[in-house]
Amino acid sequence: MKHGNLAIFIPHAGCPHRCSFCDQRQISGRQEVPAPEKIKETMERCVNRPGHRADSTQIAFFGGSFTCIPRGQMIAYLETAKAYIDAGHFSGIRISTRPDGISDEILSLLQQYDVRAIELGAQSMDADILRRSNRGHTPEDTVAAARKITEAGIELGLQMLLGLPGDTKEKAMESAQKMAALHPAEMRLYPAVVFPGTDLYQQYLRREYQPLTLEDALDWTVPIACFLEESKIRLLKIGLHQANGAVAGAFHPAFGEMVRTGMWNRHLKEHLPPPPAALTIPVHPSELSIALGQKKKNLQFWAEEGYRLQFIADPKSHRLLSR
Ligand code: SF4
Repeated sequence: MKHGNLAIFIPHAGCPHRCSFCDQRQISGRQEVPAPEKIKETMERCVNRPGHRADSTQIAFFGGSFTCIPRGQMIAYLETAKAYIDAGHFSGIRISTRPDGISDEILSLLQQYDVRAIELGAQSMDADILRRSNRGHTPEDTVAAARKITEAGIELGLQMLLGLPGDTKEKAMESAQKMAALHPAEMRLYPAVVFPGTDLYQQYLRREYQPLTLEDALDWTVPIACFLEESKIRLLKIGLHQANGAVAGAFHPAFGEMVRTGMWNRHLKEHLPPPPAALTIPVHPSELSIALGQKKKNLQFWAEEGYRLQFIADPKSHRLLSR
């Protein structure tokens, strides 16, 4: 069953400091941390919306370090949300937090309130990259937190950033492999972008940091996304679809689709004869737009590889990507 989230943004709530790349107010478009009474209104609106699916919608606290919020406030959020779950309006709670914000005690508290999924901001598994990004935790913290979450029977999600200071294509793949070894059920992949007001922005202005170009971001992300797909890890989100106030970096309204086209091409290549060749390829209708690519640019890609391809929709053909 497809799951949905009612996202409740709590920008920077609980964050012990500011990571060099992060501005949750820009990313979420929310300036204030909502009070528990305020989130009641948000839940009410969601419940009363036609088509609301109580059995597959989680209340999701995003944009901060949920488990590091002062305990009284955290419990107020959990109690407010749990009342709606107990009334049958939602299927559970999902939170995002930092790896060093996880302990056995916190996990048993979260379980009492029907927290079903925890998304950890792992970002990278390289100690130097984490240090340079002012993360304040180590890769070992991520490993320990991931194990505890899985052992507690809570679904694990990991967020990864590509292209932070010190990152390379090889290091990013190593990070992805180390994250996959933690067996998350799902991941989010984002190329790092530059928001004004962050340390990263100062580094960018001093020309000490250059974010990935769109082309490089695709070149790094496609093999990682393929690897995670092979590892049976659900990709919840790939890239920022809009700038959200970012001034530099790889954001594009169709970034996720461009990555999927790159993944699709890698699968297709395994079935093609050596170039040159002119072929008509039947494609499952659900993948036709991925096969053609943005503005049909994928035909051009294949032409440069020595193939003259034509894609036709065919409901009987297999999908090349997992969904
Ligand atoms: S990356 Fe996470 S921990 Fe760091 S400032 Fe942003 S929300 Fe807080």
